[in-house]
Amino acid sequence: MSGEIWSIAVDAPLGPLHYLVPDGFDRSVVGPGHSVLVPLGKRKVAGLMLRKEPNAPEGVKLKAALQPIPERPPLSATYLQWLEWVSRYYVYPLGQTADLIFPPLPKGGGRRKSKKGAVVKPSTGQTDHSVNLTETQQAIVETISPVGAQDKPEFQTHLLFGVTGSGKTEVYMELIARVTAAGKQALVLVPEIALTPQLIERFARRFGDDIAVIHSHLTPREKTDNWWAAVNGEKSVLIGARSALFCPLPRLGIIVIDEEHESSFKQDESLRYHARDSAVMLAKLNQIPIVLGSATPSMESWHNATSGRYRLHRLPQRAKATQLPSVEVIDMRATRDRDRQLGSREDGRPFWASQQLLTAISETLERKEQAALFLNRRGIAQSVVCPVCGHSPDCPNCAVALTLHGRSDLICHYCDYHESLREHCSKCHDGEPKPLGLGTELIERDLTRLFPEARLLRMDRDEIQTREDLEHAISAIENREIDILVGTQMIAKGLDFPGLTTVGMVMADVAFNLPDFRASERAFQLLTQVAGRAGRHLHDRAGRVLLQTYNPDHPSIRFTLAHDYEGFAAYELEFRKPLDYPPAGRVAAIKFMGPSHDETEHAAFTVAQMARKMVASLEGKETEVFVLGPAPAPLAKLRNQYRFQILLKSHGPGSPISSLCRTLSESLAHRISPKVKVGFDIDALHLL
Ligand code: ADP
Ligand code: ZN
Repeated sequence: MSGEIWSIAVDAPLGPLHYLVPDGFDRSVVGPGHSVLVPLGKRKVAGLMLRKEPNAPEGVKLKAALQPIPERPPLSATYLQWLEWVSRYYVYPLGQTADLIFPPLPKGGGRRKSKKGAVVKPSTGQTDHSVNLTETQQAIVETISPVGAQDKPEFQTHLLFGVTGSGKTEVYMELIARVTAAGKQALVLVPEIALTPQLIERFARRFGDDIAVIHSHLTPREKTDNWWAAVNGEKSVLIGARSALFCPLPRLGIIVIDEEHESSFKQDESLRYHARDSAVMLAKLNQIPIVLGSATPSMESWHNATSGRYRLHRLPQRAKATQLPSVEVIDMRATRDRDRQLGSREDGRPFWASQQLLTAISETLERKEQAALFLNRRGIAQSVVCPVCGHSPDCPNCAVALTLHGRSDLICHYCDYHESLREHCSKCHDGEPKPLGLGTELIERDLTRLFPEARLLRMDRDEIQTREDLEHAISAIENREIDILVGTQMIAKGLDFPGLTTVGMVMADVAFNLPDFRASERAFQLLTQVAGRAGRHLHDRAGRVLLQTYNPDHPSIRFTLAHDYEGFAAYELEFRKPLDYPPAGRVAAIKFMGPSHDETEHAAFTVAQMARKMVASLEGKETEVFVLGPAPAPLAKLRNQYRFQILLKSHGPGSPISSLCRTLSESLAHRISPKVKVGFDIDALHLL
């Protein structure tokens, strides 16, 4: 058989392979970026054509590509280049990376074009421009996208730093309007949880039905229809969660990432990409501006913005004249009560609630307003705190919280440092450190007892499992069918309820005691966000926020109290520098998962040894890499799989970590048990 030889990225855990594209193939569907069906072993898999090769590798009998895949439109050269970057950087097979692009179903056949199943209801055609931008907003728009610049756009990453309600979304919409007026498209990424009907309606008021929406809760048909509407260029604005980044917009003119600090932009499994960082690369390759917005930027973005790599824009004030909430810190280190830590006090007050909090709730109820209590439940039972002084044991090497394994084993899951849980606190020698065990169910039960008249709603992963659940809950709160809301941090994100005037953080410590070097950053973001929920629509007074904690002096608390993000960032960056944590250095995790403890641990040791050998051969301080572990993951066993991890940490920002992991991944075959799954997590965010 004669034909051309092409290297093709196959949808399998392999690198690209060579195939013969026979002469009989339709020439109009042969070229870089086209998809073809190819044989692989006994299967037929999708393949993405990369480039024509002069000859086949020696001794390989070429197989022939089978047929084109017409429902996969060809990708542009720029898009293909971006995809190759994503695959290389995040150490994930290109063919499997490419598979994220395409919609789940064939294009909607026969039906009216994409209207059906579209999430955005065609509005009346009336669009709304009622807001006149303030001078500050206008100046920011002019800098990012001066009129006419859409014809000769340039790449620049902009960080829009402004408190919630400061008018960032209005800035995005004006920028998008300019881009769409010039015939280009805009991509807007928001965290899944913030992609509410309220947000979409707001964009629909401005852009009518020129909007497509993609998120993980659409039906396959809806997703496919929205995807095509954007890829056909029929819709100019694509709003989506993380995965919408993979929708290949043909006339991309601007990218907006709202709440850029949100860790949900990082995918946790298979291709562990960061949508923000990958979007910056996409903007660069397309030579277009990208805007990152946040009230609490990630340390990485803040560092980039203050060092001149990104351009910083500030929106320091709320657009509407509402006051920032008043934040009160309540010290829970009540020594008198310590012996009754785990039960109710005599007056019937549950151990988790201060008198101030309960009073605040009843005052709120009397005014017929709403109160919300937040509990950060992630990792809750693993951190240990002294109820007298608030001290939590942390690793002397890594400065992260130790996690409790079994009854009394404290472990650093970065470097595998061990110590035993002592009976008395090593700092105050008085209190008895205990795991922070508390759940939303318990809080709900106590509240029902204390406020029998109040209508309660619990929002956590058990109660809210589908998007419908979430939307029902939201409208119940909006319609004032709920008086007290109890929830995990999922309710802290971006929601905006007019009746909500009082917010309590039940145990702020859980947030900063997470075994993660980013715990303080997350806690600051969470506390600020939680605080931002209160009294957003009050004009005569400020909303009220109560933070209960065992560590009233913790920086995350201190700076939240002062509404001082920049102070916090300066403090936090100084703390990380000597430890080489990002953004000073870089980190990656290599994750091991297997059904047998010993096999999984052995694999982790083998790979750590390989990594140490490779690292030893690197030269120069700038490329210095440290290999920590292996250590058990903080969740050492999950769904019957044992989990270990190795942490790689580099000294400088010009890090060889990604290429090191790539080399490792290519040399793993036959060295470790095939039952152990290995995943690379470059710029790891979730170390749990
Ligand atoms: P953010 O995205 O920073 O949270 P928004 O853009 O949602 O802020 O603005 C908060 C509120 O203020 C919205 O109701 C918005 O319509 C209003 N707003 C923003 N900018 C202006 C402006 N220039 N004039 C009047 N209202 C504005
Ligand atoms: Zn350690």
